Parts: sequence; structure tokens; C-alpha cells
Amino acid sequence: MESKKPLIFYGAGRYAESHLHQWIKKGICPACFADIDEKKHFHQITLKGVSPEGGTGYDILPLNEAIKRYPDYEIFISASYDFPLIMDYLLDKGIERTRFYRLQSGSKWCPVLGTDFIIHGPGVQTCCRVGAFCLPSKGNIIDDLKQYKSYCDFLINQLNDDNGLYTPCEDCYMLCDGKNRNEDKIKTVNLSSGLPGGDHCNFTCVYCVYGKEFNHYRRDDNVSEIFQYLQENIKPEHIAYACGEITISPYRDRILQLWKENKLKGQILTNAAIYNQDIFDLLATGQISINCSIDAGTRETFEKIKGKDCYYKVLDNLEKYASSGGKIQLKYILLNGINSNEHDIMGFIQFSKKIGAEVVLSPDNRKSNEKMSHDEYDLFMRFINCCKQYEINYSIIEAYSPEDLDAISEV
Ligand code: SF4
Repeated sequence: MESKKPLIFYGAGRYAESHLHQWIKKGICPACFADIDEKKHFHQITLKGVSPEGGTGYDILPLNEAIKRYPDYEIFISASYDFPLIMDYLLDKGIERTRFYRLQSGSKWCPVLGTDFIIHGPGVQTCCRVGAFCLPSKGNIIDDLKQYKSYCDFLINQLNDDNGLYTPCEDCYMLCDGKNRNEDKIKTVNLSSGLPGGDHCNFTCVYCVYGKEFNHYRRDDNVSEIFQYLQENIKPEHIAYACGEITISPYRDRILQLWKENKLKGQILTNAAIYNQDIFDLLATGQISINCSIDAGTRETFEKIKGKDCYYKVLDNLEKYASSGGKIQLKYILLNGINSNEHDIMGFIQFSKKIGAEVVLSPDNRKSNEKMSHDEYDLFMRFINCCKQYEINYSIIEAYSPEDLDAISEV
């Protein structure tokens, strides 16, 4: 599927740098990069072991300069999250659709495309994988659902078309061969941070990507209205509530009541600093599980990461929740040099064992798209071996790349 025309890669960010090797291996090679960010112009992207013809790296140019240099060009969008925005931008700039790089391969499909709906302050997403796309919010749930549906249809059509556009889905390990087999129905909804009324938190975790930007996003609706609309109109099989800290949301009681009355299934993310009886009741009926990111096994490290000295309070509340018999997941975001010592790892493992919790391991989410360092890889291995030794069920999320995930899974 090598293109005969010079390819201008549009997007010279982290996604492009981390995927360039993979694209070149597939025969998709840039003539140059183009980017909207002036600070990147006339710099280069270099790749160890790869020397482009006549140089040491690939030039990053303003779009018009790149087109002047390669008038017979095709465009390859080398970005993921901003893919929809970039495509619209390029079409607005008068780039013909025929200029977009197309595949010549059989049809593909993704098991979550069109069935998983993620909504947060900035917009809606089709999935939470490395190749995820974000559509900027239209400000209300009705229009956001419409644009989500039409974008999923667009992606499904590209994947079904033997000559479809190359989208970041092509780089994703979720992609399978064959025609789309998904029903036209949203099954899983994820309410995530930054939605009005779901933008409260009593911690200041060092890795929080929303942090001070809470309240930054403008919508006409709030998290409770969105929750109710989805429950009445979509009736998903599973709702994940990861929208700030639910126990201090002004809509806490309304949302938990709806959850109980409608017998919804799902998961609630909580920091467990405040105990809530409705959460206990939902755990006891098996309607929900909870996921709590502790990230530490000592009081000192907990305070350093979370900005609050309430480690023992959190452990007490988690023990109470565990007594419901419901499913508890404890998350550990591996922060090399902060919580990578034996005391923290063992403290966390022993507590997880004590309350019968499952462990969820995650790399530092601020570094997604980067390749895992040697130290981080060792840390993952140590942690996984401890889980095995103590016979604790564990899972790994948000790994840096499919290769890293494969390497870890082999242990
Ligand atoms: S193929 Fe991957 S990137 Fe595309 S929608 Fe599916 S999970 Fe997301």
C-alpha cells in the first residue's frame, strides 16, 4: 500500500513521533511534515536508524510551503485525538478529498466503534484507546449524540471501504479483519471529568489532567441532566461514572437515586475520602463496582500524590465498602521515583489482599503515546509479580503502546 505520490504528514506532535516507525514499516513514508504550530516550523522530526533521502530528518513546514515543495502531494493525517478537527480544517483550506491518503486493503471493523460513548468537558470520544478521536462538544447532549453517531458512521464506512481513508483506527490493536458486526446501539457510556456538576474534587492529584481546568468547559446541560437523558433515551448496559468526585457533586443524591431506581449497572470512580451509604447499597446489590485510585501504600506517599493527608480514612472507608460483598478495584498509577519503592508497593498489595480487591495497574497517564522507559518496564514487572505471588487479580490499562502491552502480557 505504498503511496506513489509524495506524502505530506499533517500533524507533527507526539502521536506522529511515536508512530512514525510503525508507519514507515508499513511503507507509509513522509516526504515532509506540516503543522499549524508555527513554533515547529523549519525544525525536523528525526528517527533513530532512519535517514530520509538527502538529510537527517523530516522537515516540518507550514502547509502552503509543503504544498509548494510537493505539488503532486497526498495528505496523511498523523494525529489521533484531533483527527476530526484537522480533517475539517484541511477541507476548509480547500484540500480536495481525493488528496487524502487512502488504503488499499480489505475491510476492517472495531468491536467498540459506535457502541462505546465517552463524554467529558471538552467533547465526545469514540473510545479511550491510543488512537482515540475527540469531537469538540456542541454544548448539549442531544447534539453531541448526533455528531458522535455521524462520526462513527463515517469511520465505519472508511473501515468497510476497501479503498477507505487511513484513520488512526488503522494503528489500533482493537481493529479486526472483516465487515462491521456491531449493532447500531450504544452499550457503554463513560461520563468523564469536566462536565458541569461533575467537576468537583477534594483532592489535587499530581497526575490529574483536568486539575485547575475544572469549570473551564461550557455546556448548557449538567451531569445530572446528561445522566438522565442517556438513561431514558439510550438505556446503556453499563455506565462508568468518572466525573470528578461523586460524593461532593451537588447532583450526587439525584444521580445515585436514578441509579438505584432504574437498576442500572456500571462502575463509579471515587477517591473514598467520604463514605456514602447509597454507594454501599449499590455495591451490595451488585449493580455497581467501585474503582479507587490509591497509588500508594504509605501515608506519606499518599499525601504527596493526592495533596490530602487522609490515607487511613480512605482505607477505613474502602474496608466498609468491601464489607458489602461488592466488587472493589484499587488502582495504582505507577509514578516512577514517587511510589515505586518497596514500602508503597507492598503496603498497597497487602491492603488489596486484605479487602479482596482487584488491582488495576496504570502507567502515568500524562505520558500516553510515549514509549515505556526501561525503569517503568521493570516497575511494571515487579508489580505484576507481587500480584501473582499474593494471588490477586490484576489488569493493566492505558498502556503506552500495543507493543508495551504485549511485552507486559507475556510475563
Ligand atoms: S479501532 Fe481503536 S482507535 Fe478506532 S475506534 Fe476502535 S478502539 Fe478506538
